[in-house]
Amino acid sequence: MEKVTGKRNDTAIFVYDGHVYHIDKRCNGIYRCASRRSLHCYAALVRNQDETYTLKTSHNHPSNETMLQEIELKQEMLQICRETIMKPKDIFDMVCRRNPVAAKKISYRAMRSFLYREQIRHRPETPQTIAELEVALMNYQPIERIYKGKYYPIMAIEQCYSQLIPY
Ligand SMILES: [Zn+2]
Repeated sequence: MEKVTGKRNDTAIFVYDGHVYHIDKRCNGIYRCASRRSLHCYAALVRNQDETYTLKTSHNHPSNETMLQEIELKQEMLQICRETIMKPKDIFDMVCRRNPVAAKKISYRAMRSFLYREQIRHRPETPQTIAELEVALMNYQPIERIYKGKYYPIMAIEQCYSQLIPY
């Protein structure tokens, strides 16, 4: 059983034997197939006391052996989207190259809108004042990792200049 945590902990999904499950919040130790609504699959997995799992009702669809890897690839794409200014197509191609087998099952068409949405959500707003620009630069993740030098706040740079320029 592998737990894949979403952005919030309550959105975690569980992957077991090539199937995706959601935890049943009402019944402790019961996991229900994530395709319950889309495929009307009522498969349920029960956690035993010795931490093994028993499938109580069978799935009405085949398992996917690369399911976990596909989810990991998608999560990686979204993370790069949040942290860099790379184009979604370049991110998709780069991540897919690392695991061509699992990547075969992910289409760019399906991922494109998720990636664009994630990028727009994390793009900083255009600063209107110098102070806002300073805050934006301090908090802008894409340059956080690229710029390794010492960070000079704009106020300090202004002070340096005022000392250099003779009155
Ligand atoms: Zn199922």
